[in-house]
Amino acid sequence: MVQRLSAAGIGAPQVLQAMVTVERHRFVDTGLVNQAYEDTSLPIGLGQTISKPSIVARMADLLLGAEIVSTAGSLGRVLEIGTGCGYQAAVLSLLAREVYSIERLRGLHDKARSNLRPLRLPNVHLLFGDGMAGFSKGAPYAAIVSAAGGSALPAAWCEQLAVGGRLVAPFARADGQQVLLVVDKTAHGLKQTVLEPVHFVPLKSGVA
Ligand code: SAH
Repeated sequence: MVQRLSAAGIGAPQVLQAMVTVERHRFVDTGLVNQAYEDTSLPIGLGQTISKPSIVARMADLLLGAEIVSTAGSLGRVLEIGTGCGYQAAVLSLLAREVYSIERLRGLHDKARSNLRPLRLPNVHLLFGDGMAGFSKGAPYAAIVSAAGGSALPAAWCEQLAVGGRLVAPFARADGQQVLLVVDKTAHGLKQTVLEPVHFVPLKSGVA
């Protein structure tokens, strides 16, 4: 899987190393284990999916491109919206100092907790709640990444981003097309960059 990502030019060396270290098969149901290393999203229950490896690597690459990383030397605190099964949180834990990851579905929050327990990642903090409000106690964040896409960016995310920090999230344009959006918070304000089309599950409000 990682060799294919590398051949496709996706993933900085430290991102690829993190993806070699985190075994994706641990995060999918037993019946799907033989597909765990294909570049495809897979069902994780409750209508949600584990993101495909190439998009996990792509988003991690983008986060490492935050201006604050070049000044601070590494990724500090990261907020992830949409823990799902916990795979991306595990990958991010190897690239960032602290990872706060929020999930709105109790069943998946619990699943991520049991998937991550054997990996013993002390810098991953799993939170149950509506990620549209962010998590102000951990702010400001060097990076915020969302694994679910809405048609508007929650204001809390931009507020909780550090100056020099970067937000990466899927976002539905007015024509309905979902695209990857990068928001850089600079001393002069927010700078938005629209990237390629993507397919993420919808960002929903409230908990269930
Ligand atoms: N990063 C995950 C991807 C999970 S899919 C992984 O590695 O597997 C996206 C997740 O976002 C779903 O589990 C969905 O329930 C969750 N989600 C959607 N809206 C949310 C919100 N407002 N707050 C928190 N989680 C949300």
